[in-house]
Parts: sequence; structure tokens; C-alpha cells
Amino acid sequence: MIRMEGVDKFFGDLHVLKDINIEVPAGQVVVVLGPSGSGKSTLCRAINRLEPINQGVIEVDGKPLPAEGKALAGLRADVGMVFQQFNLFAHKTIADNVALAPVKVRKMNKGEARQHAMGLLERVGITDQAEKYPAQLSGGQQQRAAIARALAMKPKVMLFDEPTSALDPEMVQEVLDVMTNLAKEGMTMLVVTHEMGFARRAANRVVFMSDGEIVEDSTPDVFFTAPKSDRAKDFLGKIL
Ligand code: ATP
Ligand code: MG
Repeated sequence: MIRMEGVDKFFGDLHVLKDINIEVPAGQVVVVLGPSGSGKSTLCRAINRLEPINQGVIEVDGKPLPAEGKALAGLRADVGMVFQQFNLFAHKTIADNVALAPVKVRKMNKGEARQHAMGLLERVGITDQAEKYPAQLSGGQQQRAAIARALAMKPKVMLFDEPTSALDPEMVQEVLDVMTNLAKEGMTMLVVTHEMGFARRAANRVVFMSDGEIVEDSTPDVFFTAPKSDRAKDFLGKIL
């Protein structure tokens, strides 16, 4: 579903993605781990072309990334993204936040979009928040709304960049539960997270990045019990 081959990315002289090769097959959950500054967010942003790359190939659903225009909007609709900061529209209700883009981009009619939005809010467990504004929700509820909003576009793949990092500890699990359910339903997911429990339980593969490189790409079992590289051992020593 996602394929990156020989991808390089520079910010000026800084080489932040170094010959990245990665594949996320349909229905798989790949968790990306790595120290701060290793290039995890840049990797995510490259996939829906929020960051242009300098070299290499990125394909989503078998098609190379379009550079601009309608095709790029189509790609972004197919690739749902959830960030650390929820980025909900402050002056729209939760239901409107979820229903807006399908009307604009997918040309869904308003009634249908609304019904679909309510179904998604039920899926993430916040139907009772539908008519509230983002500031009236807890962080965990806002992040679940952000996930519902991304799902509203019926994406083929979901990217998560540290979706629980800005949350109070007691709200982390409710968001991870929504993500775990999505994974069980067969959603293709690339997840940057520091939640090692989620990585162990939900990931088909763990990709470990360090200094712009993919240093390990293995099953969670192998990664957590027998990491090969010193860099991964060092990282796990600090985080576990
Ligand atoms: P974190 O765990 O802290 O979120 P990360 O693994 O997501 O880190 P990135 O945000 O991808 O790391 O950053 C990779 C490198 O690129 C870092 O050295 C960062 O300072 C640099 N970088 C990121 N965005 C830019 C930018 N817009 N301009 C210049 N340098 C950038
Ligand atoms: Mg990051």
C-alpha cells in the first residue's frame, strides 16, 4: 500500500532521510520508533507530500506520488493523517469537523456526510460530543475526533505521528484503543509512537530509525527481545 524506495531528503545541508526503503503492505500496521530528530515525522510528511523529497520513489496504492493539483488532493484524501496536535477547526462543532472534508473533497452530500460522521463518532466513542466545540472536549476526546475526521475521507491508509504524545497519561489508552480497533478492522497503518505496549501488541513490524536511516525492520518480537544494532539496544535501554 505504501512503498518507499531509495528516498533521500535534505533540509539544506542536513541529510534527514538517507536511502529509505520501506514497504507497508495492505492491512499491516508498521510502527516507526527512533530517537528525537531521527526523521520519523519527515518520513510521515513525505508520504502525503507535505515534504517534497530530493531522491527516490514513493508509491501509495501502486501509484507514484503526484506533485500537485487534483491528483495531489486525491492522494491526500486517500492518506489520512493524525498528528500530535489535534488540529481541529476551533470554530466548528465536532460533527462539522468530521463532515466538512467529505462534502468539499469527496463531493458527498451534506446529509450523507453528517450521517457518516455520526457513525464515525460512534466508532471512536464520542457521539455525545457531536455538537460541542473542540475546546470543550478533553485531549483524548479531541484526538479521537481527529481520528474520526481523518477516517471520514475513507482513506486507504492512515498515518499517525505521535498521536498520544500531547495527551495527559490517563487519556493515552482511550486513543490507543481506537487505533487498536482500527488495526483489527484491517486498516493499513504507519504509526510513529513511543508507546512500546502498542508497538508490541498491534504492530506487524517495527521499523527503527536513527539519524535518518532505517537501522532495523523486524517483527516486534525480534526487535524487543533481540535487537541487532547497538543503536537499537541503546534506544531500548533508555526507553524501557
Ligand atoms: P521527534 O521524535 O522529536 O518528533 P523526528 O524523528 O520526528 O523527531 P524530524 O522532525 O523528522 O524528527 O526531524 C529530522 C531532522 O530534520 C531533525 O534534525 C530536524 O531538526 C530537521 N528538520 C525537521 N524539519 C525541518 C525543517 N522544516 N527545516 C529544517 N530542518 C528540519
Ligand atoms: Mg516527530
